[in-house]
Amino acid sequence: MSKPLAIIAIDLPAGLLEDLRRSVTPLLTGPDPAAVHAALPRAHGILCSALFPLPAEVLAQAPNLRVIANFGVGYNNVDLEAATARGIAVCTTPGVLSGAVADLTIGLILAIARRLFDNARYAREGWARGLPPPPLGWDPAGKTLGIIGFGRIGRAVALRAQALGMEVCFTDRFEDAGEGFERCRSLPLDALLETADVVSLHVNLDDSSRGLIGARELALMKPTAWLINTSRGAVVDQAALREALAAGTIAGAALDVLDPEPPAPDEPLLAMENVIVLPHIGSATVETRAAMREMAVRNLVAVLTGRQPAACVNPEVLGR
Ligand code: NAD
Repeated sequence: MSKPLAIIAIDLPAGLLEDLRRSVTPLLTGPDPAAVHAALPRAHGILCSALFPLPAEVLAQAPNLRVIANFGVGYNNVDLEAATARGIAVCTTPGVLSGAVADLTIGLILAIARRLFDNARYAREGWARGLPPPPLGWDPAGKTLGIIGFGRIGRAVALRAQALGMEVCFTDRFEDAGEGFERCRSLPLDALLETADVVSLHVNLDDSSRGLIGARELALMKPTAWLINTSRGAVVDQAALREALAAGTIAGAALDVLDPEPPAPDEPLLAMENVIVLPHIGSATVETRAAMREMAVRNLVAVLTGRQPAACVNPEVLGR
């Protein structure tokens, strides 16, 4: 029997590609959108970045597709309803990247608290010239971190923040976070926004979370508070955020994600003094990216060979 055909729309190391070839024939390898679209009508599977758009009209061009193996834990790139209706399994790489995203979030909290970017710029541009240094930083210990979305990454952030001595509160669809998280206080969204010194977003992007943080929510935050977003850009109303930052409604924002990505060259957030923008590097470590690649390949091969994938967000299609 011939092997299933798959689009491998990310770069894979030679060894992993060899493993994959034992059960699957790659139609193409590498992130070339035009080539991916041209190959979709023949493909039984696609392994792609969790940022590669697969709306209903693109899925309609792929009548043979049985699996989308996302390289990433998000799946807002896929029209899930259309994929499910077509019997396409949507697989992701949860868990293996939680530590890396949580580390980055804590890095941002420390960078904000200790004014690392301001001080690094001062050391380069002002120190030797005897200019006055930036104002003092602040201690995270005793401050309150408000986590919105208390899933895998939110919890990994909570544990690290508690090790720094921060008080942690959270908002999610549940109030009891379970064993190990007894010291994390559940609060309704508005109360969390009013209480937190740092608000950190860790929800997945769907209709319930799109624009979750808008002008009303920003106005509830303390004028000294910072917003951190390492989830998805569209969770924040970016126009409202720009206005809140310009008006001093909140102290600042640290954003690993924007909407759109990459941003327009004249995106005002890129030039604002009280904003740190990073180019979507939440999972960008050698170890984490390797673990994500392996998990995405395993998911792809599992579905195409009739086995259970490790992580599928619409398992009802499996075995159909
Ligand atoms: P998860 O599913 O474990 O956690 C998400 C949590 O958010 C869930 O507990 C869910 O109930 C909650 N939630 C969703 N909508 C909500 C709403 N409207 N109000 C309150 N709570 C809500 O997911 P995870 O593994 O922790 O990943 C979270 C997200 O982080 C991913 O979906 C992805 O978009 C993002 N992410 C970003 C990077 C990066 O590079 N910056 C890397 C990995 C993941």
